[in-house]
Amino acid sequence: MIDYKLVCLIFLAFGFNTVKSQNINYKTLLGIEHSNLVGDSLKLEKNTFIAFEKMKKAALNDGIKIKVVSGFRDFKRQKEIWNNKFLKFTKENNFSGIDAINEIIRFSTIPGTSRHHWGTEIDVIDEKYKNEKNPLMSDKYEKDGIFSKLKKWMDENSEKFGFYLVYTNNPNRAGFEYEPWHYTYLPISKKYLNEFLKIDIIEIISKIDIEGKDLFTKNFIEDYYNNNILQINPDLK
Ligand SMILES: [Zn+2]
Repeated sequence: MIDYKLVCLIFLAFGFNTVKSQNINYKTLLGIEHSNLVGDSLKLEKNTFIAFEKMKKAALNDGIKIKVVSGFRDFKRQKEIWNNKFLKFTKENNFSGIDAINEIIRFSTIPGTSRHHWGTEIDVIDEKYKNEKNPLMSDKYEKDGIFSKLKKWMDENSEKFGFYLVYTNNPNRAGFEYEPWHYTYLPISKKYLNEFLKIDIIEIISKIDIEGKDLFTKNFIEDYYNNNILQINPDLK
């Protein structure tokens, strides 16, 4: 005789698992497809967008106009950035492949591994200086820099709205350089990071035309994860 109770229990447990793991599609995590984006020219993940609007309003009350200059970025765009930089460094500067990659990953990520793919990340400036050339320079956010008032406001308030700095200036942090403009919406991105780490990125990269991909060995990718991707504000892990 079949134990229906047991069958039901197994079905429930299995069913739950499937729903849970399908919660975040791997294509979303790699920037290939995102079904939960809002915004026009600049897109963000829905919850991130709502939280950002609240923070923007609060900042405005204090006389600070936050402007997002980069939000969601898809895989295709990241691939263009990567390939352009790789070709520039190898052809114009005569770097070896591995030197070019190590130079690129000071600031940029391998396509598929950018947190901007998730729609949970924002690069912010002060709207007042929106015409500034090359705004994303760390000294502009420090001391008397043009974005220092914005940065001070963010230091005091952003976490109340769920937004955390990712690439901090903690001297013990390695990997990507300090980015005082880059914030993440923690309630969503923490979940995304956990799911992202389960993806076999080498398998995916091997099927796509990314410059220098022959150098993405298992060891290289492991080092890249430990020394770059996971070198973030510890609150985000
Ligand atoms: Zn960024």
